[in-house]
Amino acid sequence: MSTKRVYSLMIHILMAVAILTACAPAATEAPVEATEPPQVATEAPVTTEEPVAATEAPAEIPDTELNVLCTPQEQWCQGMKQEFEAKYGITVNYVRMSSGEALARVQAEKDNPQFDIWWGGPIDSFVAAKGEGLLEAYDSPNYANLTDPVKMKDVDNQWVGVYVGTLGFATNTDWLAANPDAAAPTSWDDLLKPEFTGQVMVAHPSSSGTSYTALATVLQIRGEEAGWEYLQKYAGQMSQFTKSGAAPAKFVGQGEAAVAIVFSHDIVNEIENNKLPLVLTFPEEGTGYEIGGMAILKGAKHPQAARLWFDWALTPEAQALGPTYAAYQAPTVKGVELSHPELLEVNLIDYDFIWAGEHKQEFVDKFTNEIAAADNLKE
Ligand code: PLP
Repeated sequence: MSTKRVYSLMIHILMAVAILTACAPAATEAPVEATEPPQVATEAPVTTEEPVAATEAPAEIPDTELNVLCTPQEQWCQGMKQEFEAKYGITVNYVRMSSGEALARVQAEKDNPQFDIWWGGPIDSFVAAKGEGLLEAYDSPNYANLTDPVKMKDVDNQWVGVYVGTLGFATNTDWLAANPDAAAPTSWDDLLKPEFTGQVMVAHPSSSGTSYTALATVLQIRGEEAGWEYLQKYAGQMSQFTKSGAAPAKFVGQGEAAVAIVFSHDIVNEIENNKLPLVLTFPEEGTGYEIGGMAILKGAKHPQAARLWFDWALTPEAQALGPTYAAYQAPTVKGVELSHPELLEVNLIDYDFIWAGEHKQEFVDKFTNEIAAADNLKE
């Protein structure tokens, strides 16, 4: 499929999403405290010029190293480190953390940041960090590459989207064969069926951006009151909460439970690369999605190198690297072929990232204190 066709498809999908969201009965109840409606792109991006292909290191750059707080999977973090080092000769030190841990680290290091740039993980955490004054604004020339600059970038240039991924369900096909009366879930309600009691796995929203996306999705589809009632029952279906968002797909693939709630690109990775017996389904009434974010941290000790990474991560060249490192998220810049366009061809809700980010601490605390504590999380 050509790039043009892919983007016209994405725009088409987003238009369909906007229409479906407006029509879907399950999604009519707006979050009670939402201050503004979610923004969904309904038009082709205005920019027509060719994407900026690459970023050359300025000759006078004084930074020789860069500390990256990396939230996607280890393999992609490692790959990006090596690619950046090879291209620019700047040493990259990275630490991989789940989104909740990353946000907690950034908060704790407010007065003496150890990281220069934060790359990856759902944007909700970046919105929360912006609210606490932890991010540095940067006006990158490569914002021109974004397919949807309105949705994919903070109005004050404090964060930007570097990938997009949708939430899905992974069901163990061996378990389905052994339970012929059961079917892979195709709705959020299906997860509450008696056959799935003690058989569902998801990460804990305090540590995982994946899990927080699921929580915020449910609250947006059902409204807060019904959403929290649902989440109480949902937590009762869990075999165990994990720390990392992608881990449940692996554990379910190994037969530890029947169903995992995970980003669909992580499920594809387990099926295609690790050959785990999983089938991918989506909740038909609507699923949430993430914009994976990036931001320079306020007080970064290597600001030039951080800006160089920021610009580079917004080039088609850098975003095309994902599948090389088993990362199948959709790109946010023009000029990159989608590796798995079908992951976007689902009923997406009009996920409100700003609302989800502004309420992150409150909702995570409520879930932890009233529904399920974050003790004894499985790795
Ligand atoms: N790994 C992948 C592949 C992701 O897409 C994301 C989300 O951006 C994460 C990990 C985030 O991990 P967690 O849910 O552990 O915060």
